[in-house]
Amino acid sequence: MAELDRKPDRAPVPKDWTYAPAPESREIVRLQDRYGHFIGGRWIEASQTYETISPASEERLATIGEGTPEDVDRAVSAAREAFADGWSSLPGSERAKYLFRIARLLQERSREFAVLESLNGGKPIKESRDVDLPLAAAHFFYYAGWADKLEYAFPNRRPKPVGVAGQIIPWNFPLLMLAWKIAPALACGNTVVLKPAETTPLTALLFCDVLRQAELPAGVVNIVTGDGRTGAAIVDHAGVDKIAFTGSTEVGKLIQRRLAGSGKKLTLELGGKAANIVFDDSALDQAVEGIVNGIYFNQGHVCCAGSRLFVQESIYEPLVEKLKRRLETLRVGDPLDKNTDVGAINSAMQLEKIKELVAAGKEEGAEIYQPPCRLPEKGYWFVPTVFTNVAQSYRIAQEEIFGPVLSVLTFRTPEEAVEKANNTPFGLSAGVWTEKGSRILWMAQRLRAGVVWANTYNRFDPSSPFGGYKESGFGREGGLHGLEPYLRFEE
Ligand code: NDP
Repeated sequence: MAELDRKPDRAPVPKDWTYAPAPESREIVRLQDRYGHFIGGRWIEASQTYETISPASEERLATIGEGTPEDVDRAVSAAREAFADGWSSLPGSERAKYLFRIARLLQERSREFAVLESLNGGKPIKESRDVDLPLAAAHFFYYAGWADKLEYAFPNRRPKPVGVAGQIIPWNFPLLMLAWKIAPALACGNTVVLKPAETTPLTALLFCDVLRQAELPAGVVNIVTGDGRTGAAIVDHAGVDKIAFTGSTEVGKLIQRRLAGSGKKLTLELGGKAANIVFDDSALDQAVEGIVNGIYFNQGHVCCAGSRLFVQESIYEPLVEKLKRRLETLRVGDPLDKNTDVGAINSAMQLEKIKELVAAGKEEGAEIYQPPCRLPEKGYWFVPTVFTNVAQSYRIAQEEIFGPVLSVLTFRTPEEAVEKANNTPFGLSAGVWTEKGSRILWMAQRLRAGVVWANTYNRFDPSSPFGGYKESGFGREGGLHGLEPYLRFEE
């Protein structure tokens, strides 16, 4: 009763409306001091190592193995053995059970994975928690469903697994890219050697514990950590039947050249410079949210980021005004704070690249806008940036910046929007904002982009194929299309 007496009869009025810190606890993550390679279901001590850090604080997190060609060779042998020793001939319904288990375990341990992803990669916890983890689990669920239906997916084509898949993934969505690669490969009966990016190996290494819990047979998935040299050793290994790569166009081209004539299957998911096109009949506030999500999501480290904003001339001024106002409300800082919108840049190297391109934009004559923003002292940070007065020839309108930097251009007619949007060597994605359904279809037919979002942006679903045209690569991941690169057909 005394307790009740003391309660005020109304909730107190807050003293001010600024956000209080809301840090997610790190306690759930148990880091090892040192990690080896995961080969044949066991941890193998690494002969060479490097340190992985948190890009938000530059704090050392763990010592990681730097995979040598010998490590890669062991991993490929383990994968080959597991392929021949039962995995490839296991009924699809049995393979599916493992994939379902992995999906459920990812869901059960999602908080632990989300915290680790943000810690090692710098992305805001609300994104790793609400986007990366649910999508990674969904990918395993989705491909688990296909494992016993391959004959129906490709009728009369007698689908068979390809063999050992070498998979090389980037640092922007470490666990999600792992899921995009491993789930379809396993569903089709292949075994895997995967290399995570040098700067973000930790969730891939924690994933090995999920494989243990799921009792996946030894050697079906092998993880070798390291830098580009380890990736090159996977690409060059004669025992690998298929390479799946996501990363820069430059390295993608290199891989394609190295594989020419080898008979290995290849899929490449490379860079982008997507057009996000806003017509004057669109719902402007909704479009502003889509623009912000399109370029500042994951610090702009997104291959399909809407980095070129095309605004119809008649709404240019109000839209840019609204956008600038919205930018002032973005909270930049600690990735583990649940209120953070924009986290840390993934590495010192990437920060340098962003700075270099932003300097080029200023020099070429574009007008820069950055909202007032206090950045943490340690770590790698970049203020969300908008460039106006941008010409199509500027580097900031041509090259992938892969950071929180938007270039705004204008157009008058739908034809002009299409022409300008397609004026790029890339072709991964695009966005269209308009109230007219017929215009959406008209635009979607003409935009040379693998994905076209209408009145939304950066939406992903495992059932929907993703991939590019031109220098954005070839092959599709996700959906029924995503099975094909992991199959050969005995027609
Ligand atoms: P990379 O293409 O170098 O990295 C992607 C993956 O490939 C990493 O695992 C990398 O290892 C590995 N790799 C590097 N060199 C080789 C090689 N010769 N053979 C096989 N594998 C290799 O991208 P960066 O990290 O250097 O980023 C550079 C730029 O690429 C970014 O600024 C961005 O513009 C773009 N990018 C695009 C991505 C996309 O999703 N489309 C993703 C990442 C980057 P390691 O990490 O050790 O270098």
